[in-house]
Amino acid sequence: MLSKYQFCIMLLLPGLLWAAGERFTLNPVSPRSIRVGQESRLSLCHQGQPTVEVVYPGKASPVAKYAAEEVALRLSQAFNCDIKPVTVASGSVPAIILGDQELAAKHGLDLNALDRDGYYIKTFPNYCLIIGRDDPNGRPGKRTGYYERATLFGTYEFLERFLGVRYYFPGEIGTVVPEYQNFALPDIDLTDRPDNQYRSIYTVQLGKGKYLYPGLEPADISRESNLQLRQNTRRIPNCHGINGLQLPQRFAKEHPEYFALRANGTREDGTGGVRSDSVYGHVCFSAPGLKNEIYLDAEALLLGKSHKDRGLPRSWANHHEAPFFNLMPNDAMARCQCDGCRPYFQSKDPQQTSDFIWSWYCDIAKRLKDNNIPGYVTTMAYDVYRPIPTLDLPDNIIVMLAQSGPWREFGPNKDKDDALVAAWKNKLGAKLYLWTYPTKIGSMLPGIPNVAPRATASYFKRQAPHIFGAFYEAETDVWLFRHLNYYVFSKLMWDNDTDVDALLQEYCRLMYGPAEQEMLEFFDSLEKHWIQDVLTNFYDTPEGPKTALPSLHEVWTKIFSPAECARLTALLDQAEQKTAAVPKAAARVKFMRTELWQHVEDGFAHYQKTISDISAWKTVMPETKTEIIPDGKLDEADWQDAPWIGLIPRVVNTVKEDEPAEVHTRIKMLHDQQFFYFAFICEEPNTEAMAEVQRQFDEIELWKDNVVEIFLAANHQSRIVYQFMIGSSGCRTDLRKSPGHLGKEWNSGFEAGITKEPGKQWIAEIRIPRQSMPELQGQQMVANFSRSRVLTDDSKFNVPYYVWTQFVKQDAESCGVVHFQEPLPKSEIKNGDFAAPVTGKRFLGAWAANTAIQQDRGIYRTRNASVRLSGDARSIVQRVPQLQPGKQYKLSFYVRLDGVEITDKDNSGFFIRFDMGNGKPQYPIRPALRGTIPWLRQEANISIPDDFGAKSVPYIEFKCPNSTGTAWLDQVELVPIEAK
Ligand SMILES: [Zn+2]
Repeated sequence: MLSKYQFCIMLLLPGLLWAAGERFTLNPVSPRSIRVGQESRLSLCHQGQPTVEVVYPGKASPVAKYAAEEVALRLSQAFNCDIKPVTVASGSVPAIILGDQELAAKHGLDLNALDRDGYYIKTFPNYCLIIGRDDPNGRPGKRTGYYERATLFGTYEFLERFLGVRYYFPGEIGTVVPEYQNFALPDIDLTDRPDNQYRSIYTVQLGKGKYLYPGLEPADISRESNLQLRQNTRRIPNCHGINGLQLPQRFAKEHPEYFALRANGTREDGTGGVRSDSVYGHVCFSAPGLKNEIYLDAEALLLGKSHKDRGLPRSWANHHEAPFFNLMPNDAMARCQCDGCRPYFQSKDPQQTSDFIWSWYCDIAKRLKDNNIPGYVTTMAYDVYRPIPTLDLPDNIIVMLAQSGPWREFGPNKDKDDALVAAWKNKLGAKLYLWTYPTKIGSMLPGIPNVAPRATASYFKRQAPHIFGAFYEAETDVWLFRHLNYYVFSKLMWDNDTDVDALLQEYCRLMYGPAEQEMLEFFDSLEKHWIQDVLTNFYDTPEGPKTALPSLHEVWTKIFSPAECARLTALLDQAEQKTAAVPKAAARVKFMRTELWQHVEDGFAHYQKTISDISAWKTVMPETKTEIIPDGKLDEADWQDAPWIGLIPRVVNTVKEDEPAEVHTRIKMLHDQQFFYFAFICEEPNTEAMAEVQRQFDEIELWKDNVVEIFLAANHQSRIVYQFMIGSSGCRTDLRKSPGHLGKEWNSGFEAGITKEPGKQWIAEIRIPRQSMPELQGQQMVANFSRSRVLTDDSKFNVPYYVWTQFVKQDAESCGVVHFQEPLPKSEIKNGDFAAPVTGKRFLGAWAANTAIQQDRGIYRTRNASVRLSGDARSIVQRVPQLQPGKQYKLSFYVRLDGVEITDKDNSGFFIRFDMGNGKPQYPIRPALRGTIPWLRQEANISIPDDFGAKSVPYIEFKCPNSTGTAWLDQVELVPIEAK
């Protein structure tokens, strides 16, 4: 019999571990045995005529039915026919039979001998049986999740290996199905299972814009992708499991000592935290009572008891699932300041801190083991407990190590990272699993593709001997950017020996046919740019070369420079030409151009718009001749006349674009030869509750308190940013940030004085010596300002963070410009910021309206006010007789719309009527703006005609007539364009 088979691979690894109930092992137990004959045996299609039935037993699981539908669909596509699955084989033609357990038993295929997710594919004289263990309640057509569906995994394998089907991503474009006139199966005797138990990909959208792609419903794309990538079906929980124990609800009242002590004497008992996950509380590692309670929770879970037996209000599922109890503490773990914990957290030796936490884990794990409780304690090696502990670890602990992963393939720490994985394996004497971070969270460059299949492959291949799986945390802005990363990761997690070079070559050949080489070069170029140019971008610093993300300027001028973008576009052009006669390949090239490459082009356009928009953010820091004492009093005369800027809500996390400012902040600045001076006037009705922890000078943690911050840099391209934090407590921190370096050791010698007017405001007056920042010279610098509002009582407010410019990053590129003297030319529009008071209802400085002017002090862009066009008040006007005929001007402004819909076609929506006083008005923004639009900066060039003002007084009118909804207008400027 055996001689008929071509022997491929045979693996049998010992090393069984048994847990309560289902078998769990860190190493594969059932064999990978792939024996395929060389001769054609079962003919499924002959001269274009299909001779095959697809069968699932009527009483089979929904998984088998779903698998049968998948086989029928692909065979129909391959043989150009319409095959429908049936529940009984006719016996007259060859059959593909899915998930028939009786048949499997008859042939001695023992499903219980298979590892989880493993399957058999075996041919018999008139049929081929595909089967693995399926959960009778699993419904792959509806959802993925933690249920067995091995028959479906066998089905994908069957279609890939024997029919040549490829699942690159869900949908017609990403699924390759070869067509056949004649097709026959060889003899098959195949048993397989994954090399890695844990194969999990986290696919969540970051940022705005188009995320998925056309062709399928978004929910189906996610579901089918999860199934086709054969992600793990067993949950091995390891994500802040302590949070699932609901400790604050159970113990905060009776046992405050269970919770981490804060420096101010309060406890991390779920109240008074700054993060959304603070509500889960943080533990004290020295409280024996708490350790005992958690032990009892673990024991109960592992013995299959209900959460109710332990008094938990809600289920502990998701965080814990037998045979795994997850001991991992909350994220951003609080360092308990009690006498028992503090010395370990304050220790300068990270080993001491790690050992302290690990001894807590070990105590619980050992006690479980001593009491013969089956199962495992899982935890991550993360945060301060990432270093390998010196103490012995019991073998019922399973460790997940947090590792940067593929992003560091060309970085300086690659070998160090690898060594840590190997050392953990050595310490445990068993495999671990990894949490890796190939995500764009820390490298959010919109529109830049994070294509990285080769880095993914090389990284995980090296880790293979040490791990039983990995979590691939891969949030991104565009799903398609990473379709190859996912494909390669999933293939490698299934089979460590996968040849990824061949896999990628095959991808390009099967997807793009004649354009194989162009597309390979295209994707390899994208990967090189991401992994090497973006993520391994070196800067020279005083401490030696460091890696840091390139600025957007560098991204769009050096990495995706116009020349490089032209080269990549030319590759796509060539690919289109080469595939002109191959419709499927041509459609795929076109798809990648519109759904993947277009994001790069859009990213460039967005960058250009941002550069232009940033010019709206500017202020003046006049020179002062008087001595300014930083005492928080602002009693020097020059403060009175100094210009000021305001802050706007920072749109991030829970704060939405339409969130109005709840408090106003005004910032003034002055300079002389020696110093920069800043004054922050912060409205605060609740001055009593401002979070003020007494801290050492230069403590980074000051950001957690009620503070204002200043960011200064030489220009938008500067990689050095000076940062100053000033608490309402009077505490101060300064930093000189450079690529890869926080610059805490740098000190400017700056001073700050604070005064408070209870129930009204607090003021910070700041003096910074200029000699400490030699780069900040010339006519201007760039700056940003922020205010973090942190109150310790339970008063509810929506906006915790305010900034000057709307650009959220804390880098030089997101700064506005600070001129050391009034720049020229000035805007011809007066009161363009709408900050002046409304007088006589119809006037605001130089502006006038027919009805009451609606000033908005909650929603604005600059200087704490905008004007609102809504209801009856739908127009605002300013006369501009001073403009010069023949001259060009640039008009710019910010506008925001909410539900502006047309009621009259010819004269509705938001637009500008520029009356030239000659009977020929101009309409700079056409067509009119409608709908709902977030704050948008608009620009237009205006030419002033020679007969300007010949008939009447010229004026400019912003209006939103004959419409529903509301428009807001702010920061209107009209600046002469000097002739070149
Ligand atoms: Zn403690």
